[in-house]
Amino acid sequence: MAHRVTLIPGDGIGPELAEATRRVLEATGVPFEWEVQEAGEAMIAEHGTPLPEAVLESIRRNKVALKGPITTPVGGGFRSANVTLRQALGLYANVRPARSMKGLDTRYEDVDLVIVRENTEDLYAGIEHMVGPDAAESIKIITRAASERIARYAFDYAVANGRRKVTAVHKANIMKLSDGLFLESCRTIAADYDGRIEFEDRIVDNMCMQLVQKPELYDVMVLPNLYGDIVSDLCAGLVGGLGVAPGANIGTEAAVFEAVHGSAPKYAGLNKANPTALILSGVLMLRHLGEQTAAEQVETALRTTVAEGHRTTYDLGGESGTSQFADAIIERLAEPAPTATAGPA
Ligand code: NAD
Repeated sequence: MAHRVTLIPGDGIGPELAEATRRVLEATGVPFEWEVQEAGEAMIAEHGTPLPEAVLESIRRNKVALKGPITTPVGGGFRSANVTLRQALGLYANVRPARSMKGLDTRYEDVDLVIVRENTEDLYAGIEHMVGPDAAESIKIITRAASERIARYAFDYAVANGRRKVTAVHKANIMKLSDGLFLESCRTIAADYDGRIEFEDRIVDNMCMQLVQKPELYDVMVLPNLYGDIVSDLCAGLVGGLGVAPGANIGTEAAVFEAVHGSAPKYAGLNKANPTALILSGVLMLRHLGEQTAAEQVETALRTTVAEGHRTTYDLGGESGTSQFADAIIERLAEPAPTATAGPA
């Protein structure tokens, strides 16, 4: 039976990346039935919101979505469609793997990190108001329930994926109550995994320095929403930039797969942007759907194409456009799998 998936092309570079990703996923032979839903700036005139209710209904129905980036105006204008979507669907865990790829000119060769970011609260929830004309207040809410839930997700992820350690990242030395509660919650959950998964904690500023100097010391990291947003871009930078960083937003009712990067409006419509991050998000989606073989095939075809170099996009040092890069991956997928040759008796 075909997998019914909501496909949100988004805006900016989103539509061309979504099209490239859809073609690559279909080339695996896994049957998909895409329900295309438009969201983003262009929807505001007609629906009064960048995130029409039909989009949320579609994801609730299908339980899985692949999403391109959506622009959020800085300052005034609408609340982020991305934040609204995560909150409306209870997508509480944002998982962002950062793994080195051969062929990319980066500072380290063997980075293998996973960011598990709390996705529903913290300063990132955007609860803020003016206090008179010259002061603004943002409210940081951290709850025990959300902190324990994300910590448990991080530990369960570590167990399920054969990882060795979870590091909780915080600023509990200064924000003793809010980040203190996050850290305390992580410690509580860590006790349930004692002897199976190692646990430690780091203050977020120190963590940033350590990650750029010694990324090999870290494995799975669990963070409140805002630190998770910032540290995951740092980790993307360690493995080749935003063009190669995938992500998954997981909830109890639905899962939405999207790249870490945004809509990069200056490249919109130019067939220039790198589809790797969204294709790798598609790989995470294939795994979520139980299509392990297809997931391995796409990841291998993508990694081989990147390692060869010339058929990639400009940011990876290649000369191809978005769709030609996707064509190169599709050609790899069509090649017969290497057959095992008999070794010496
Ligand atoms: P961005 O990620 O869109 O772009 C930053 C820079 O990174 C780009 O100028 C480009 O040089 C590079 N880049 C990003 N993606 C790339 C790709 N696939 N290929 C090649 N280069 C790429 O970040 P921004 O400029 O801060 O944000 C632009 C808009 O996107 C904003 O409105 C922001 O709110 C929104 N945004 C959306 C999401 C989302 O939908 N989940 C995430 C982040 C930002």
